[in-house]
Amino acid sequence: MTQAKSSAKSKSPRQTAKRKQAGKTTPSVDNPGKVLKRSRYSKAETFAIFQRFHADNPEPEGELDYVNAFTLLVAVVLSAQATDVGVNRATKNLFEIADTPEKMLALGEDRVREEIRTIGLYKNKAKNVVLLSEQLLREHGGEVPENREALEELPGVGRKTANVVLNIYFGHPTIAVDTHLFRLGNRIGIAPGKTPLDVEKAMEKAVPAEYSLHAHHWLILHGRYICKARKPECRRCVIYDLCKSREKEKFDAIPEIAVRTRALIEKDKIA
Ligand code: SF4
Repeated sequence: MTQAKSSAKSKSPRQTAKRKQAGKTTPSVDNPGKVLKRSRYSKAETFAIFQRFHADNPEPEGELDYVNAFTLLVAVVLSAQATDVGVNRATKNLFEIADTPEKMLALGEDRVREEIRTIGLYKNKAKNVVLLSEQLLREHGGEVPENREALEELPGVGRKTANVVLNIYFGHPTIAVDTHLFRLGNRIGIAPGKTPLDVEKAMEKAVPAEYSLHAHHWLILHGRYICKARKPECRRCVIYDLCKSREKEKFDAIPEIAVRTRALIEKDKIA
């Protein structure tokens, strides 16, 4: 009886709305929810989505500040569970005094910890930054290796971090699946998967070759600023008319940004 009551209660429209409001129906890395078996889009539809992202922002860029491969690697390690803005604030001074593994090692863990203490998990991150500097000097002559396996051997560096460095610094068409990409892959249904690795593999299959270098940036920016976790801003969405997400807001007309970008593509085809 009690069970029946509680199950009826959990299905009430008010609670569903509350859950939606709290973002509880949004797929997260920890809770992917119900996962589609395959992409909702044909090859041509996926191509059109990336064509739209490209027309809207032909040269997307990451938002972490760095001056070389080493500082990019450190910035990405520091960015786990922290915002890029917060990381940039902390690394401004750090990279002025230590922009190489030698200098970082000489600075030492205590000083690195002081410099990055405004970032979440700073104690562990400071330890990893010094350890990875030491390992880079010992095993790679102080250079950042252009190789996923070697990168993943470094303290604090996982597959996602390795993929970011390979993509941004070395120009490999890797897809680093963070919380935004994971959510988009499942919410839009372009690359569904239960785990970040599943989504990465599905993205690699789905993204057209000509767009693979920038796909990671377009999707991160789209997830961070438009298709947000709690509530997607569909009115500002460049792929609104192409999106098949069930969370898409319904409007009487296609948002202006999507119409304008579609026209831009059509104009280029004619020219
Ligand atoms: S239309 Fe809405 S749900 Fe679909 S991608 Fe755009 S912001 Fe996300």
